[in-house]
Amino acid sequence: MDRKVLRNLSYGVYVVTTIKDDNKIGCIANSIMQVTSDPVTVAVSINHDNYTNGIINETGKFAVSILKENSDSKIIGDFGFKSSKDNDKFKTVDYKEVDCMPVIMDSCGYFICKVIDKVETTTHTVFIGKVINADGYTNDNPMTYKYYHEKLKGTSPKNAPTYEEEKEVKTDNNKNTKKWKCKVCGYVYEGDELPKDFVCPICGQPHTEFYEVD
Ligand code: FE
Repeated sequence: MDRKVLRNLSYGVYVVTTIKDDNKIGCIANSIMQVTSDPVTVAVSINHDNYTNGIINETGKFAVSILKENSDSKIIGDFGFKSSKDNDKFKTVDYKEVDCMPVIMDSCGYFICKVIDKVETTTHTVFIGKVINADGYTNDNPMTYKYYHEKLKGTSPKNAPTYEEEKEVKTDNNKNTKKWKCKVCGYVYEGDELPKDFVCPICGQPHTEFYEVD
């Protein structure tokens, strides 16, 4: 089986959020699609290991904020590479509450969903949500997963449905170019030296959290 063909499927980059007892929770998802138009329903795939999964199961409600190409990539770092169990991810992000659900302001817009069904797979729950509210902020380009990988040089968290184990870090023949990799998100910096004031553009880690790769 050639899994690579699946890379031709299109995805966006979204923040899926929910709330329980005033605790705002959320994670990054790329596998979301609209499945019907009347009523408007969507399918959202969330890994069993994501704290957000259990809370959506309990509350039966979630929101989706659609990230744009120029959304602050630290949102992806905070929501995609940390757990809501140990972190208040909303501490440093601009958000508002709609129908008691937190939604991210630095995005194209949002929709709020009530869970009407779900499908369990071996690793993920696919929540089927009826959209009960929605609004947009801008006409900016939504971020696609391809843009995240190619332009921002972002990587997939292990819990992403599309995650593929990295077999090796590619090297080129130019011996003068060195590479350093972020321990948290896998972002690779290339250059002669890693600047001391360098901050990971994806997850915000300082240069001390990078290691040199061959
Ligand atoms: Fe990083």
